Amino acid sequence: MIPFNKPYMTGRELWYIAQAHANGHLAGDGLFTKKCHAWLENHTGTKKALLTHSCTAALEMAAILAEIKQGDEVIMPSYTFVSTANAFVLRGAVPVFVDIRPDTLNIDESLIESAITARTKAIVPVHYAGVACEMDTIMDIAQRHNLLVIEDAAQGIMSTYKGKPLGTIGHLGAYSFHETKNIISGEGGALLINDERFVERAEIIREKGTNRSQFFRGQVDKYTWTDIGSSYLPGEVIAAFLSAQMEEAENITQRRLAIWQQYNETLMPLEQAGKLRCPRVPEHCQHNAHMYYILLDSLAKRAEVITYLKAHDINAVFHYVPLHNSTYGQQHGRSHGDLPVTAMISDCLLRLPLWLGVEAHQQKIITELTNCLL
Ligand SMILES: *Cc1c(COP(=O)(O)O)cnc(C)c1O
Repeated sequence: MIPFNKPYMTGRELWYIAQAHANGHLAGDGLFTKKCHAWLENHTGTKKALLTHSCTAALEMAAILAEIKQGDEVIMPSYTFVSTANAFVLRGAVPVFVDIRPDTLNIDESLIESAITARTKAIVPVHYAGVACEMDTIMDIAQRHNLLVIEDAAQGIMSTYKGKPLGTIGHLGAYSFHETKNIISGEGGALLINDERFVERAEIIREKGTNRSQFFRGQVDKYTWTDIGSSYLPGEVIAAFLSAQMEEAENITQRRLAIWQQYNETLMPLEQAGKLRCPRVPEHCQHNAHMYYILLDSLAKRAEVITYLKAHDINAVFHYVPLHNSTYGQQHGRSHGDLPVTAMISDCLLRLPLWLGVEAHQQKIITELTNCLL
């Protein structure tokens, strides 16, 4: 079976974990965590980067920093992972689901303004497949309505919008290093703090609501409970693994892009023949080849293709069940109008295997897909 995903190891992960062990510091915020923070800050230009256990944890921190309260509304797409909504629902917010664009499958920025009410506190754009949302329009709407923008950039590391790294355009941004993403540590994530006024409080929230970071910098003479918070920081073993991945981030991205291009070039004739639709990446968005998806004509067609590929030892998978249709989302969220594009995309989208090493199987995948569709 050709798997849908296979985590890539650079080869230096275990060596760095051995060093973390030898350093004798295994809790969070040791040398390897500092290395990861420096890489993120240098690479993206964000004011402050903080490693977390996951993108989910980074989004939860963002919801606390945004001071989300019971009954506040947060605007987001329905076509996303549950954590985008849950991080805010945990603080009592109502997720307000807006439809997506049929080209990039990102939140349709032209629908956001009409979804805003007196209770709206934040907009959470999700950069699907590492392709940027229309951030200029979103930031302009947020500024005019005094809202915060929290980027769910779980899939967006190494991608840019008009030259700016994803995760650095909103007030806050969240990355994921889950093993299904491009740069990994098994489970892992980071919060990017782009607005200075959140830096100090973010450190406190991440350290169980204490001013421990200030204590270690010598800014206060004892550390104590100063705010709400939790334990959001990963240990050094995770950071050691992640720093090996970060050193290879450029190479990993280039190799993924080559695989993506190969799919795109060889499947384009099928698009021209009306058999499928390939992804759309706007000129001003540099993507990171997080995902290669195709759009088929119908749910039935997609089921047929999945079955066919499985019978030929290829594991291709669909993606999100829209949150507004989910059991919990129906009860606790609100849809802004009908979401026809979301419904259509969730029925018709199919993701092809994309991982470092799939090159050896790519011709087979393309051939079987062509056999099935022609
Ligand atoms: C993967 C993903 C998440 C969750 O990331 P974790 O690190 O597993 O918490 C959140 N949002 C989106 C859009 C994702 O793709």
